[in-house]
This record gives sequence, C-alpha cells and structure tokens, in this order.
Amino acid sequence: MTDTAHSNPPPDAAARRAAKPLICYQLDQLPPSNLALYQQARQGMRKLTEITVAPREGGSFEVPAGSFFRIVSVEGAQVGDLNLWHAHDLTERFFSGKTRQLHATHVSTGDRLWSSLPGLRPMATITHDTLDWYGWDEDGAGVHDVIGTRCDPYTNYMLNGVDYHHCCHSNLTRALAVAADIPLTEAELHVHDVMNVFMCTGFTLDTHQYFMKASPVRPGDYIEFFAEIDLLGALSTCPGGDCGSSHSDDSTPCYPLQVEIYQPGAGALQGWSSPPRSGYSGTHGT
Ligand SMILES: [Zn+2]
Repeated sequence: MTDTAHSNPPPDAAARRAAKPLICYQLDQLPPSNLALYQQARQGMRKLTEITVAPREGGSFEVPAGSFFRIVSVEGAQVGDLNLWHAHDLTERFFSGKTRQLHATHVSTGDRLWSSLPGLRPMATITHDTLDWYGWDEDGAGVHDVIGTRCDPYTNYMLNGVDYHHCCHSNLTRALAVAADIPLTEAELHVHDVMNVFMCTGFTLDTHQYFMKASPVRPGDYIEFFAEIDLLGALSTCPGGDCGSSHSDDSTPCYPLQVEIYQPGAGALQGWSSPPRSGYSGTHGT
C-alpha cells in the first residue's frame, strides 16, 4: 500500500490493530531436521566437481541426493539467482513462497528449501553459511532472500522499453534448456521464483517496499546445501552484480560464481533416507 489511505479509521481502530501477531507455522511443527547428522557428514566430505558460471550468464548442475553443494563467491561481490528442480521431474521445483512462510524472508543454516505442491518436501537443507553473521541490519535487511522473484526481461521492457537478454530469468531459461535438452519456450515455463543467494534485501520501514542494497559477500564466502533429493540446479549470475545500484543492464561490474559438488565420507549418512513426497491423499475432498 504505497498510496495514502482513503478511508477513515473506525472508532475501534486501535483495538483492531492491537490483535497479537501469531507465527503461522511453528518451526517445531516441521518434520525433524537432520542438521546434526549433516554437519557431522560434511566434516569428511570431498569435492567431486565444480562449475563456474560466467558473469551475466546461467549455468546448471546436478547433485545426487545425499551430496552437498556450495555456491562460492570468487573474484568479486556477486549475487546469484538459484532455481532447483527434482532431477527426474521438472514439475517438482523450489517453492519460495512456502519456504518463506515456513522459515523467514531470508534463509540461512538449518533452514530448508521446500518443493512445490503436491510434493512439499525438503529439497535441500542449508548446512553452512559464511554470511550468517550478518543477521538483520538497521534497515531491516538480511542476506539470501526468498522474497524477490528474479530480474526478468518483461518487467524491464515494461519499465524501460528495451530488450535486455541477460536478466536472471533469461539466464536460467537458457541454462535449463541446455541441461534438460528442451526448447527455450518449454524451459521458460519451468523457471520459477528463486532463492536470491548472497543478495541483501528487505522491505522499507515506512512503505514496506522491496529494496536491495550492496551485498556483503566477498570472495571466499559460500553457502552450502545438503541435497535431500536428486537435484537439477540452475544458477544465474545476476546482471546486478552485488545489487547495490542497478540491474537489468550491463552497467554494473559482475563476477563469476562457482558451484562445487561434494560427496560425504563412506558411511557418514548411515540410517538416512531421502524424504518422501507429501502424504496428503490428493483427493481435495472429492
Ligand atoms: Zn537478477
């Protein structure tokens, strides 16, 4: 609500406003987390492979269930837009809205990335985050948001009247088309709201508008995930760079991001199994 109010407050406005906030989903209601097991397993893990995503581009990677992956800052401060799919079923994909409701507007160690309905299961658990010291700053901003959608050429065209082809939406679309060997038009429909890795964002305190500010990420920082199911991932190095000035153009310095895949030591995950899809009957009352 960025416009001023047009309606007069009712006589009991203060009483209505005084209703107590209630956390919609309590963390202790969620299925138990295996974070302690994963943090033990990460001690003996070894790197299997790595890919580098060039600036203002997209790249894809696969992570088998039971493995770890890291997104690593290299060369300079850079934000990454992350999409995740079930490696064998593109219709099950990261559900940023529900992840936000279950955890918070920004995610870090211990939070899980949940999949879309009707799957609704953890796709990945965050096992380490070198930026978890940041917390919430004086502007109310935090790092790694699940609020923003992704920069896209349609909004850019609406606002600026020009075609720009390296928005995160397009970078992710091209990366998925190659990874899944499907046409661009089909791949685009599978691209979804992202996790904004390393991005520092919040809502303004007065108008609650979405804002960004320069990311605190520096080369060497990383965020690490445990793959709960077989994953296909795509990462875009946002043309906004550190997202401290502009986006959707080539005016900002941009840097690569690295994705590293790790395998835990033998026997480290004893007793662990990949989570099943939601147990809901799916009949919707019929
Ligand atoms: Zn972007």
